Amino acid sequence: MTGQAQLGLMNPDELAAEHEKRTAEYEALVARGLSLDLTRGKPSPEQLDLAAGLLTLPGEDYRDGKGTDCRNYGGLQGLPELRAIFGELLNIPVANLLAGNNASLEIMHDLVVWGLLHGTVDSVRPWSAEPVVRFLCPSPGYDRHFAITESYGIEMIPVTMNEDGPDVAEVERLVSGDPQIKGMWCVPNYANPTGAVYSEEVTRALATMPTAAADYRLFWDNAYAVHPLADEFPPAYDVLSLAAEAGHPNRPYVFASTSKITFAGAGVSFLGSSSENLDWYLGHYGKKSIGPDKLNQLRHLRFFGDAEGVRAHMAKHREILAPKFARVQEILDDRLGASKVASWTEPAGGYFISLDVLDGTAARTISLAKDAGIALTGAGSAFPYKRDPDDRNIRLAPSFPSTDELSAAMDGVATCVLLAATEKLLG
Ligand code: PLP
Repeated sequence: MTGQAQLGLMNPDELAAEHEKRTAEYEALVARGLSLDLTRGKPSPEQLDLAAGLLTLPGEDYRDGKGTDCRNYGGLQGLPELRAIFGELLNIPVANLLAGNNASLEIMHDLVVWGLLHGTVDSVRPWSAEPVVRFLCPSPGYDRHFAITESYGIEMIPVTMNEDGPDVAEVERLVSGDPQIKGMWCVPNYANPTGAVYSEEVTRALATMPTAAADYRLFWDNAYAVHPLADEFPPAYDVLSLAAEAGHPNRPYVFASTSKITFAGAGVSFLGSSSENLDWYLGHYGKKSIGPDKLNQLRHLRFFGDAEGVRAHMAKHREILAPKFARVQEILDDRLGASKVASWTEPAGGYFISLDVLDGTAARTISLAKDAGIALTGAGSAFPYKRDPDDRNIRLAPSFPSTDELSAAMDGVATCVLLAATEKLLG
């Protein structure tokens, strides 16, 4: 069944009939007693199976190429050979890249906290001694980024997201006039949730623009650096050199991890930055740890071999993910295309599709879906303070469910979108 007619053009009688039809459709959906989840961008079990080889590595040979006994303490910066592989993929010199434990989010969290407690290498005082600290938040964006800054009382300023990245003019206007803006959350490739890929111009502008704060930091979260849905890998612009050449060597903190490459809960994270920043980071990190899990790093090194090994592995993910994303597009087109009450992104990579429904109906759509057994990410969660100013955005995560489950869930979501829209239009 398709959403055949443009809802906004219907007269009241037509709308009332449409509402009746959608209500019946919704009741049938509820009667199915579904229990489906489109909330978190987790790899499916099938994707995790691709890295099953890790479970038997590194075997008896627990030394890396430099002879380091990976079972022991030490090696704060992580194994050089693994850093070389990801340095190539991320376009970061091995000396400027650190390999850590399983979660890049933990590194981001620590950098915010240490900025607050100690100040960065360019700060005159800890951020916590400032009257107020602000971060720019391209929106919609990643809810867990916003959760970190919110939890420490950092004021979040939404910034418009375009298809080629954040609105650079808006960013420049804000950072040039306000020394309290100390940071900005960025996801340069296949941004969560819009799928936007920052262009070279946007990357350059963000890395080089003058800012009122000398200790302003780009939290450059390249979580989806090697995660295209088609053959071509996204570019890895050298944000560290761009910033350094413009006189801001310490501005970018680059993050990545193998969470969406190997095991989401047991991968390896990376931090790329200037030598000064890394020394500062390691100084503080050395107080909380005597070294990362080098055996896991060695496992990853053996599993991939080289950067090409990572690319080949990502092709296998693509084979699983691309049909799921295509299915979502098909259902959205089929069920919502003609109604003109929704629009959605068509990402070339990453883990999410961002669905915009009729203004003022996202929360209602999500609640209808919940009552029909379909879990969607909470209303507004892609915005600072969970405040979607238009109540229109819904983040869809197609990776985890099977294709059948995904089809049922998306068909159900479309039903909820149409019912919420007819309710709204009827007033
Ligand atoms: N950054 C982004 C943009 C993400 O979407 C995610 C997970 O969904 C993460 C970071 C989490 O990364 P990690 O598992 O390395 O902590």
